[in-house]
Amino acid sequence: MSAVNETLIRDIVSEVLGRLGTPAASKPAAIAAAPAPVPTSGNCGCGGASSRANGSGFRGRFGVFQDAAEACLAAHESFLQLQQKGVAARRKIEEIVKTLAEKNAAEWGRIELEETKIGRLDHKIEKLQIIKLVPGVDWIRPDARSGDHGITLEEYTPFGVIGAVTPSTHSIPTLSGNIVNICAAGNAVVFNPHPSAARCAATAVRVYNEAIYRETGIENIATIIEKPSMESFAAMCQHEAVRLLLVTGGPGVVKAAMQTGKRAVCAGPGNPPVYVDDTACMKRAARAIIQGASYDNNLLCIGEKEVFALENIADKLMSEMERNGAVKLTSSQLEALTKAAFTFKEGQGGGCAHASVNKDFIGKDPSVLAQAAGIALPPGTQLLFAETGADHPFVEEEQMMPFLPIVRVKSLEEGIRRSLDAEHGYKHTSIIHSHDVEAMTAMGRALDTTLFIKNGPCMAGLGLGGEGYLSFSIATPTGEGVSNPRTFTRVRRCVMVDNLRIY
Ligand code: NAD
Repeated sequence: MSAVNETLIRDIVSEVLGRLGTPAASKPAAIAAAPAPVPTSGNCGCGGASSRANGSGFRGRFGVFQDAAEACLAAHESFLQLQQKGVAARRKIEEIVKTLAEKNAAEWGRIELEETKIGRLDHKIEKLQIIKLVPGVDWIRPDARSGDHGITLEEYTPFGVIGAVTPSTHSIPTLSGNIVNICAAGNAVVFNPHPSAARCAATAVRVYNEAIYRETGIENIATIIEKPSMESFAAMCQHEAVRLLLVTGGPGVVKAAMQTGKRAVCAGPGNPPVYVDDTACMKRAARAIIQGASYDNNLLCIGEKEVFALENIADKLMSEMERNGAVKLTSSQLEALTKAAFTFKEGQGGGCAHASVNKDFIGKDPSVLAQAAGIALPPGTQLLFAETGADHPFVEEEQMMPFLPIVRVKSLEEGIRRSLDAEHGYKHTSIIHSHDVEAMTAMGRALDTTLFIKNGPCMAGLGLGGEGYLSFSIATPTGEGVSNPRTFTRVRRCVMVDNLRIY
């Protein structure tokens, strides 16, 4: 018999015994029930002597597990409990995660930065404060039909356990937003986090589960593999309790998830191009570009990564960028930075096709890049930029640094063509600054990206300064778009045949 079936049967037996009034059904049923005292967060209890002692046999506590299979099984048990406790428990989980993300933003932002050493503290904190913008339980509404033949209800029901992979670029924010989305839809989740951002992720998981347990009696609604590896990724993907995958990361993990044979929602890489024409407001465009490209030192997958500027406004745009605090590099400074920020395959002489990003520069402060370029920056500089050719490594590679290459183009057609090349068919994000509706339409059609932002910074695409809602997982290659609770549901139809109309 499979482990999942065993768990299922154990639950059914427990339920039946409970109805018969025997003590075996001591699992908490009421939302407010707290069946056991909650230890302090210092007690990780993730194995060995500190194992959980309340009878389920899992060697992990409050979501933090050493073993992938146990993390999956514990999440499955919690899913069954969530089913019993209904929508009220889902709402409680959403409220807890949103409240705790905001309350702990400063501390969690700090520990994430300390662990990953990429990005900016102010933005790490902000990314947690805005978890409240992630859609939750209210997103799940059934569709109903009624007619001469009866009534039909299409309901968005959970899968069960979702296996999720999170990136190093926003570990706790992605995990938090994923929990809100996934649990709002009635699922549990198990995380295989990025190894270089796993400690902070486990801290957040433990804090969330402690509070959720206290309020709902469910202990492991979001579990995490404390020391993730390729093996734990494979074990999580293969586990029979895991019904759907959600991966947020670069090309490697997207490919790996698609090869598992399980359905995968893939939030993959991007390299968002920006096109600026001569109808745009240069001041506004410059400010928006700086705001977006400097956010968290350009770690956002939606962040502006290269700019194609119509040649008759390129100088004006660059002047406005300088006026608004960005610093322009000379060609020799650009050359020095390029040599440091990329590694080139031997014998290729720096050709862009053979360049790869030097990880030591990803998400680093502008001052680090400036040092490599051989200049000192005025305090408070958020972004560097330089004029480059269209085939420069900074254009071609998803570089994730607070530096923007600016490329002159002769026409809208050239701007679109070069944007298409730079985007590499990821269909992730593209941006235009223009007041020419035809140019917008032409670029929107040609690029066909999941997010297409006009006259704003990239964040406007996620509800920050633009209309819409937030998620840190934007499913690009698999097409689900900005993820939300419905992304993690199955559609089930419930039909009653009869003359039931009352009008
Ligand atoms: P990454 O690809 O290095 O890692 C992402 C996750 O995948 C990590 O947990 C990592 O351990 C795992 N992973 C990587 N290769 C794997 C493989 N072959 N098998 C199994 N697991 C694997 O990415 P990162 O540096 O942490 O994050 C940046 C990347 O993620 C960028 O490409 C960025 O565009 C993308 N991203 C996309 C979104 C989105 O919503 N589309 C959001 C955030 C980041």
